[in-house]
Amino acid sequence: MESEVATQGSEVGSRKTEVVTPRLDWAYASSRESTDIVEVEDRYGLFLDGEFREPKSGKYFPTVNPATEETLAEVAEAGPEDIDAAVAAARGAFENGWGTMPGAERAKYVFRIARMIQERSRELAVLETLDGGKPVKESRDVDLPQVAANFFYYAGWADKLEYAFPGLQPEPIGVAGQVIPWNFPLLMLAWKVAPALATGNTVVLKPAETTSLTALALAELTAEAGLPAGVFNVVTGAGATGAELTGHTDVDKVAFTGSTAVGKAIRAQLAGRDTRLSLELGGKAAHVIFDDAPIDQAIEGVVNGIFFNQGHVCCAGSRLFVQENIHDLFVDKLKARLSTLRVGDPLDKNTDVGAINSPEQLEKITELVDMGVTEGAEIYQPACDLPDRGYWFVPTLFTGVAQSHRIAQEEIFGPVLSIMSFRTPDEAVEKANNTPYGLSAGVWTSKGSRILWMADQMKAGVVWANTYNKFDPASPFGGYKESGFGREGGRHGLLNYLKGGGRS
Ligand code: NDP
Repeated sequence: MESEVATQGSEVGSRKTEVVTPRLDWAYASSRESTDIVEVEDRYGLFLDGEFREPKSGKYFPTVNPATEETLAEVAEAGPEDIDAAVAAARGAFENGWGTMPGAERAKYVFRIARMIQERSRELAVLETLDGGKPVKESRDVDLPQVAANFFYYAGWADKLEYAFPGLQPEPIGVAGQVIPWNFPLLMLAWKVAPALATGNTVVLKPAETTSLTALALAELTAEAGLPAGVFNVVTGAGATGAELTGHTDVDKVAFTGSTAVGKAIRAQLAGRDTRLSLELGGKAAHVIFDDAPIDQAIEGVVNGIFFNQGHVCCAGSRLFVQENIHDLFVDKLKARLSTLRVGDPLDKNTDVGAINSPEQLEKITELVDMGVTEGAEIYQPACDLPDRGYWFVPTLFTGVAQSHRIAQEEIFGPVLSIMSFRTPDEAVEKANNTPYGLSAGVWTSKGSRILWMADQMKAGVVWANTYNKFDPASPFGGYKESGFGREGGRHGLLNYLKGGGRS
């Protein structure tokens, strides 16, 4: 590989720095993951009471590979009668033994599911990438290990619930109706299903319309694991199917991850009922870089914060605040780093940024980016060869962004970063908190005291310091303000599924 590096000296405050503009040939030989390991059926039914069944609605919809626009399979669309049947199956399983099974016995099933996920993780990772468009190196190295880890973690709690919350008699709530989005299909499933089963609840899950296949594969896996029929049910479909499930009068607990608009609709739907509810909604996270930060590490953190999973991440660091005296240097380095990102075939193990999940999401990203240009922000996109077919968006930076711009206010849910500056820590806090959301934030500085002060000041459920997008099953995650309420993960995640466990 030929390489040549241009350097340009500059002085920032008291720091001597160097902008390195790589002129490298970044062409990598393709390293494509084989799809032979995955068998996709032509058509999928609903998973009810331990088996796949034709939908009573008689309807099916296609699920498409967003990187090729090819239809992968047809998936059943559950109607009201199907939701009735799924909730009845879950109720039956709850009352016929699962709800009163000793924790040590329940744990064996959850452990078995965790082990089987590990055994089949390559297959599930490829399926996740085929159906959702995310780079296989992410589904393989991030999503699937986290999915298995969440099942292992909650399996471990199943027989220790009386020690988790002293004074609380651990009792399951009953039937949980769970609705999840398309950005981390299996991981969102794991965050919800693992604690629900470990605490003795039964589940009806509605995956997102565009990414049903891995939930259906997991359903098959639970049957192979011998999970009693009706304990875990999957109803596929679009928003109407989700609304049918969340509004069902025999569902005791609703757990929803998705947009703030739909979260509000569900809250209104459940007003006046005693159904338990937890909401994990959108975000517009601030990523704050102080002038004493380790700049090159911070560049990596920012790239991971916004371009991981094409920016389809609720906690994506989509608003970058850089201290004014390092702003230009930081932006130059970020641009140089952007030009090295490989966008394209998600099955290629070299790919950094995969396909946008759906044409609807691509349209939403395009509209907001066009608005950013119209409102006067300066756009930067590296040169990039995109595949002819599929849904793609070039990683994008905006500088000269005003707080009032729509790109600084609204969740874009795509690979688009809005960069602003600040002078003092107080100004950073004020700007960072100027959002209706409150899910996550990031801060980069070499001062420990400033990290603690910032973490205290930022109105966000999770604050990462000198890193970003770090997850662990033992660590709770969730937001406040318009980012929702209730915590998933950790001991807190158990409370969602126990009687007396609070509002969430
Ligand atoms: P949506 O809110 O549109 O959809 C989420 C899920 O709800 C999907 O399964 C969807 O079905 C279903 N749904 C849609 N309408 C209704 C309804 N009226 N009643 C019940 N269910 C319904 O969000 P997206 O799928 O577009 O996901 C992106 C959003 O999710 C972003 O705002 C993101 O921030 C948020 N999110 C939050 C996370 C968190 O932990 N806080 C994590 C991941 C994402 P269908 O897809 O078929 O329309």
